[in-house]
Amino acid sequence: MNSPCDDGKKCAPADFRRADPSGRLPRWTALCLVLLAASPALWSAGRTRHVFLLTTDGLRPEEVFTGADPALLNREHGGFKDDRAVARARETYWRDTPEERRAALMPFFWSVIARDGQVFGDAARGSTARVSNGKNFSYPGYNEMLVGWPDPGIMSNAEVPNRNVTVLEWLHAKPAFRGRVSAYSAWSVMRGIVNAERAGFPVMAGWRPLPFPPRNPREELLNALIADTTRAGHANEVWDSFVFHAAIEQFHVQRPRVMLGSFLETDYWGHQGRYDFLLDAARRFDDYVRRLWELVQSQPDYAGATTFVLTTDHGRGRAPVEWKAHGAAISGSENIWCAVLGPDTPARGVRTNVAPVTQAQVAATIAALLGEDYAAEHPRAAPPLAEVLAAPSASGPDAPPPR
Ligand SMILES: [Zn+2]
Repeated sequence: MNSPCDDGKKCAPADFRRADPSGRLPRWTALCLVLLAASPALWSAGRTRHVFLLTTDGLRPEEVFTGADPALLNREHGGFKDDRAVARARETYWRDTPEERRAALMPFFWSVIARDGQVFGDAARGSTARVSNGKNFSYPGYNEMLVGWPDPGIMSNAEVPNRNVTVLEWLHAKPAFRGRVSAYSAWSVMRGIVNAERAGFPVMAGWRPLPFPPRNPREELLNALIADTTRAGHANEVWDSFVFHAAIEQFHVQRPRVMLGSFLETDYWGHQGRYDFLLDAARRFDDYVRRLWELVQSQPDYAGATTFVLTTDHGRGRAPVEWKAHGAAISGSENIWCAVLGPDTPARGVRTNVAPVTQAQVAATIAALLGEDYAAEHPRAAPPLAEVLAAPSASGPDAPPPR
């Protein structure tokens, strides 16, 4: 969102500057800016103390907003092994309306996040969310999301250390976040994307053992399973379940203020052309989010003080053929979705007829939720999604119904 926020509750200084069309500032405003810049906590009026960025790789907005695609619920285009697999998927995911289908696919997303948070990317209702890197594949996408701008120098998914500093590393360098950041990803390349060596926070990535010597029997077991499981998929992609359970252990031990949980079976099964497993992976991701949300709400220091940001690194092509792929040449794979749920985000549900949002806005949004002004130090960074930071408007057209 590019519009300056207008309620003054959660604005970064940069937003105040943009709000003045003359380019000059009243003296009192300038004084305030000096004070605010000197003490970021002064303009951090929000309640968010912890942010979880949860991603599932290459999940199309088509599935998120309309559920199982009727063009793919068949053996010819959906890659189902046999008629029984088709019947199982239809029973699990097919419903008569798009609203029922999406709720069957992602029940937590549509019962809680879309009610209590905000969702962007429903193009049919005038809300677009896109990658702006032009590549529509993973390393450029995660870089854009975590750094805040697209880097045209990133041309491949090669596991090389990112020259850019992510918002995770930027936050971790601050005393208030030191030792309280971690990234748990199914993909080995995430170590490069967040530049784990330089960043200094723990990173789980692919089939490597956990980033610490096991600290409890559950982590010992997870390491044993990682070592002993047949790597039937890609060599650099561990199954999502390992990441989820490892992240839960990390949560209990580290008590992170910022955590990336990055899943990728939605992309893997898409490339395999197995639509039934892609749907299963999307539903499992939704359930991971639900369990994590319920876990943090059960902890006194996290309840009411934690925001979840959900998104994906790219979309995919359209049914009935190109859904298996994504990239610069695949039309539609630039389309993504984004959702935010937390104490500082007004419950406006699915956003309609709003300005387009980009993947690059995620980095500054994470920082702003935590009361930190990322864009001020990184002029190239896209601005935060102001509307997920603003206090609820009692009379605006988007005001949520009382509940
Ligand atoms: Zn992919």
